Amino acid sequence: MHIADIFERDTTTYSFEFFPPKTSAASEELFETITKLKPYRPSFVSVTYGAGGTTRELTHDLVLRLKSNAGLDPIPHLTCVCHSEYEIRTILSAYAEVGVSNILALGGDPPRELAGYNRDKDAFRYAADLVRFIRKFNDSGVHPDRRGFGIGVAGFPEGHPATPNRLLEMDYLKAKVDAGADYIVTQLFFDNHDFLDFQERCDLAGITVPVIAGIMPVTSLAGMKRMAELAAGARFPAKLLRAIDRCGGDPSKIEQVGIHYAAEQCLDLLNHHVKGIHFYTLNKSTATRRIYDSLGLYNPTTKSA
Ligand SMILES: Cc1cc2nc3c(=O)[nH]c(=O)nc-3n(C[C@H](O)[C@H](O)[C@H](O)COP(=O)(O)OP(=O)(O)OC[C@H]3O[C@@H](n4cnc5c(N)ncnc54)[C@H](O)[C@@H]3O)c2cc1C
Repeated sequence: MHIADIFERDTTTYSFEFFPPKTSAASEELFETITKLKPYRPSFVSVTYGAGGTTRELTHDLVLRLKSNAGLDPIPHLTCVCHSEYEIRTILSAYAEVGVSNILALGGDPPRELAGYNRDKDAFRYAADLVRFIRKFNDSGVHPDRRGFGIGVAGFPEGHPATPNRLLEMDYLKAKVDAGADYIVTQLFFDNHDFLDFQERCDLAGITVPVIAGIMPVTSLAGMKRMAELAAGARFPAKLLRAIDRCGGDPSKIEQVGIHYAAEQCLDLLNHHVKGIHFYTLNKSTATRRIYDSLGLYNPTTKSA
């Protein structure tokens, strides 16, 4: 379903992010997760896109499987990095052919294994260029929906590390939206003030598309360190660190505290009438299910329901 129709249908969107599994055991685990999460009726699910190589095809495979076998509405991520215009057009055509309705258009980071990779070889430097290209593709009439793909872009409530000038960064975000993005999904954050302030700054910059809040519960100390690495610059508030510290290293208490913290974040965001909450699931279901259950989000109400 085109994202505009999803926003029209769902007062608040709830969505889950998955990454393509690389082994058959990981694939089995993911589909178990999906079976457990499906009854929660996500507005959509999204599938990450690898930095390069074979994992990129896995995104396409998982998107097809989610759409045809799991009956979910998948939004593939697509990145500029390491791609020619021909490759991007081919990917878009393949998604259009099977009726994928939306794409999350991203800059992407050069893969670690390609240290020193020269971005001059890429057809598109920034996500805004990719958004512009998808819009052009939409005009070509290849997509079965006459509007073409709905387009999402990334937003960074705490700022993106490559652009320390926050005023300039907002100009770049506005450029992505002006190029044709329909919505923004944010990087994970642990202090709602950062998100609400980001939303206000978007408003002030004249960005009127919906902003979906990205939430990733801390479920282990190792996971927290991975998060800090992946979401470079993410700030872990003292309140969260203190709560984790009180667990004395007990893994099950840490998980409980992390999930409780994320649930409180979600409750507060809902009280602030956030347009959507996007759960970074890491292909696991427990944290998301517990948050849903503790907030009474089971079978979220939709305008049409
Ligand atoms: C919701 C979400 C999902 C993600 N999914 C994936 C994924 O599936 N695969 C993956 O590889 N990565 C993913 N990422 C990571 C993302 O690709 C990186 O964080 C990347 O560095 C920034 O992506 P972007 O789309 O914001 O890029 P861009 O919008 O291109 O911005 C990248 C940097 O360039 C700056 N910039 C933008 N325009 C200009 C300009 N004209 N001149 C100078 N500087 C400019 C921006 O301020 C920013 O610092 C995701 C991030 C988020 C938040």
